[in-house]
Amino acid sequence: MTDTTIATEYAEIRELLRIGNRRVDTPERFEILDPATSQVVGSCPNAAAADVIAAIDAAEEAFVAWKRTAPDARARLLRKVHDALLQEQDELARLITLEVGKPLRESRAEVEYAAEFGLWYAEEARRIYGRTALGGSDAKTWMHLVRQPLGVVGAITPWNYPLLLAARKVFAALAAGCTVILKPSELAPLSALRLGYVAERAGLPDGVLNIVTANPPDHVGDVLSGDPRVRKISFTGSIGTGKQLMEASARNLTRVSLELGGNNPFLVFEDADLEAAVDAALVAKLRNGGQTCVCANRLLVHESVLDEFTRLFSAAMRNQVVGPGLEPTTDVGPLVQPGAASRIQSAVDDAVSAGATLVCGGLPLAREDLSGGSFYPPTVLRDVPPDTRLVTEETFGPVAPIEPISNIDEAVESANRTDYGLAVYVFTESLRKALRVSEDLETGIVVVNRAAPSGVHFPQGGVKQSGIGLEGGPEGLEEFTFSKYISINA
Ligand code: NAD
Repeated sequence: MTDTTIATEYAEIRELLRIGNRRVDTPERFEILDPATSQVVGSCPNAAAADVIAAIDAAEEAFVAWKRTAPDARARLLRKVHDALLQEQDELARLITLEVGKPLRESRAEVEYAAEFGLWYAEEARRIYGRTALGGSDAKTWMHLVRQPLGVVGAITPWNYPLLLAARKVFAALAAGCTVILKPSELAPLSALRLGYVAERAGLPDGVLNIVTANPPDHVGDVLSGDPRVRKISFTGSIGTGKQLMEASARNLTRVSLELGGNNPFLVFEDADLEAAVDAALVAKLRNGGQTCVCANRLLVHESVLDEFTRLFSAAMRNQVVGPGLEPTTDVGPLVQPGAASRIQSAVDDAVSAGATLVCGGLPLAREDLSGGSFYPPTVLRDVPPDTRLVTEETFGPVAPIEPISNIDEAVESANRTDYGLAVYVFTESLRKALRVSEDLETGIVVVNRAAPSGVHFPQGGVKQSGIGLEGGPEGLEEFTFSKYISINA
């Protein structure tokens, strides 16, 4: 079976909105394209404002029973969803690759990680603890603090990890006792919609998880943030959209969590294990073709190891196989957003004009077999001036600008010289140095001597313009609760 026939099979996917117990079509629909071929993979309804309001109605109605469902029962259901996701791993992974283009092995890992959040939050559902104490000034007063579910949650997710990022929000919110209206990205909504079917088969009651799709999506944000029944908007995506949603949410003082972009430095000090640093830089740079919020965006390398690091790293980048994600040999798939390759090319050209040296890549791929998609080659540039877009902006592509650093202070200053604050990678064999820079970096995550920052049991979140709030870990569940204290004169 060729890749094309696999894609054609999916052309039959005709998705519906999930609103309470109804599966709803709309007069207008929009298509989802395979970024590797630009072929149609499927189509989704274009929800109108009235559909979003109907989803809020359904979520509000379902909340009454769901918040009173015993935590153990909620946990059992979430575990079933976890099991079912893993049973459908192959199918879901293929769907993710078709809608986003990432290599199939990365899509399989995404399904596994998404399911893992189900298991983690199933367990956390049973541990929503409060606090009890005798009143401060009056020994006869008992103070009880309890955490309660916020209510209806609007969850808006991006395209780059379409299943994982939906699952991370949905599992935490459901574990807390909230009900959800999920709005996945119009570029890649199919695997998130499949999560709805999986949850339904696992026995999740109607209305607890509603899913709406729309293209363009702006009115969905307006309806969700404008309806006082929606108690929280949990958003993952770009800074611009995050600000827009926060502004709109101010009208009702609706709570927001914003998981936004990153411009993540990868620091390599003179005492680093260079081979390990190269291996990790490759993974941190190229995961999902460089389209990851925690991607290494720029490499800051000590001047004494700059030549050797650049030689090893660029050799490894040159060896990466670019191609469709369904090909088993592919390391780097297509870019997803229309126009991404020309946006990246222009940032690379600007850096070269400003004095950067191109080490590898840097030109559009002239391959007939890839002409249907937006592919860009792994690219390395050195001595990139700090005021160029490759350094100041989130590139979201397989491009690695390298800048020299000469000491810790300069490294920290350079790493912090950005409006973003999501993740920083640090390579050094010195614990003292690792701790010193970890303390001084303005970031939500520091990753020392490894490539993968996250884990289900720890919260991810940014500082500065990378966001507000946390996802993952017990803190990620707390985001969907409010605290209430009950003061009792006993
Ligand atoms: P985006 O902001 O364009 O879109 C994200 C989601 O918001 C999509 O579902 C889109 O349809 C929706 N949206 C856009 N405008 C809206 C509106 N007015 N009302 C309601 N919904 C609206 O972002 P994207 O291009 O899909 O994702 C890439 C960005 O996401 C990058 O900046 C990346 O760093 C960031 N990201 C952050 C994290 C994190 O955990 N911090 C994780 C993944 C991606």
